Amino acid sequence: MRYRIQTAKPQQFINITPMVAEAIKNSNVQEGIAVIYVPHTTAGVTINENADPDVVRDMISALDKTYPVQGEYLHCEGNSHAHIKASLMGPSCTVIITDGKLLLGTWQGIYFCEFDGPRNREFYEKILRG
Ligand code: ZN
Repeated sequence: MRYRIQTAKPQQFINITPMVAEAIKNSNVQEGIAVIYVPHTTAGVTINENADPDVVRDMISALDKTYPVQGEYLHCEGNSHAHIKASLMGPSCTVIITDGKLLLGTWQGIYFCEFDGPRNREFYEKILRG
């Protein structure tokens, strides 16, 4: 399944858990795995706290301290910080499906991580029975 999203900020974590969960519900898969894949080099995906939005803000802030937007980079596009952050978060995550639902901890959410927005973005979800 392919999703299109529009990010609104230069750097932003978007909780995509409801979209991912909806597809699992519609698939009727009770036991299996879901793979979420982001086909971009300046965006990624991660799982982290969904209760306090300050957590993802702190993550962006901490990443910025280590990999500032403006830095001693060679890449001529000027978005090396975004490439680095995208690789740190990674291009995919895998979540177990059990009893027809995502096996996530109470405080876990799946986040699309924008590091070079705002842009039109996409991500994929593959649901495997097993
Ligand atoms: Zn670039």
